[in-house]
Amino acid sequence: MTKKIALAIVGIGKIARDQHVAAIAHSQDFELVAAASPSSTLDGVPCFSSIEQLFESTPSLSAVALCTTPQVRYQAARYALTRGCHVLLEKPPAATLSEVQALVELAGQQRSALFASWHSRHASAVEPARRWLAARAVSGVSVVWKEDVRVWHPGQSWIWKAGGLGVFDPGINALSILTRILPDSIVLQDAELSYPENCETPIAARLQLTDARGTPIRMELDFRHTGPASWDIAVDTDGGRLLLSNGGSTLRINERSEPAAPNAEYPRLYEHFAKLVRSRQVEVDIAPMRLVADALLCGRRIEVEAFVDG
Ligand code: NAP
Repeated sequence: MTKKIALAIVGIGKIARDQHVAAIAHSQDFELVAAASPSSTLDGVPCFSSIEQLFESTPSLSAVALCTTPQVRYQAARYALTRGCHVLLEKPPAATLSEVQALVELAGQQRSALFASWHSRHASAVEPARRWLAARAVSGVSVVWKEDVRVWHPGQSWIWKAGGLGVFDPGINALSILTRILPDSIVLQDAELSYPENCETPIAARLQLTDARGTPIRMELDFRHTGPASWDIAVDTDGGRLLLSNGGSTLRINERSEPAAPNAEYPRLYEHFAKLVRSRQVEVDIAPMRLVADALLCGRRIEVEAFVDG
């Protein structure tokens, strides 16, 4: 059996604990050898309060999974790539597109693997949806991505700071699925962004997008939603309606439920990262982030009431 790849997690927050730790523990390819985070620690592995200390103390390190807030991801990725390490970036891959481009160039120079991961693309019904749509003409798309920020992001003040994306933090997951399942490139036509008067990022957004054939694609994102979340994408085609729900994990075609494999987004994501590491490849698709950047560049801004957490 091939030797496992020695990996560290950088940024021990909600997603590291909820998904990465278990996915690595069950992985055939990776072994968690250490972690780094300014104030949080993980049981069972040596923990360091900075990436510099992590690298100084862990000479065996081959790869890192960067689960930090997006605003600090670029510096951490540069640091790791410069030291010849392979890098998995949580989504979004960095705070700006120019940071992402710089990382792609650096990874190429270093011959290190760089994976801009989009976990929602590994949800179990996404590939079946993509295959079904490939053979059909799409006439319209509606995306409704609404969740209660107090339930899903309690106390995460970075979301409301520049670079934190606000409602696009979950919304970029919808865009990562959309840009995977639709056969053509998507462009932004119009965006209306609602900013709480005390926040630097939007709490809600309405986007109008289209593709080369002029297909209307509407998207509604809202963090003020209460009750069960909606993470739904409906696609009308010449073969009927496809409904991808629960963030890409369930599929209905013409009202009939399609069988789906158990959801295993993060195990699949690590399987894929292992292939990239072993072949030293760079896989960075910026399509979801480019659409968010376009919305922030061209969107009309509306001020709404202040957001108070808790
Ligand atoms: P979070 O709970 O706030 O965790 C972020 C962590 O980043 C914090 O624990 C913090 O560590 C760490 N951090 C901050 N600055 C750092 C630095 N300079 N070096 C190392 N670590 C640093 O946020 P999260 O929900 O895990 O989200 C993190 C990323 O994962 C975001 O980009 C998000 O979009 C993505 N994501 C989140 C989810 C989800 O369900 N929450 C799902 C998929 C992807 P300390 O605690 O030590 O201060």
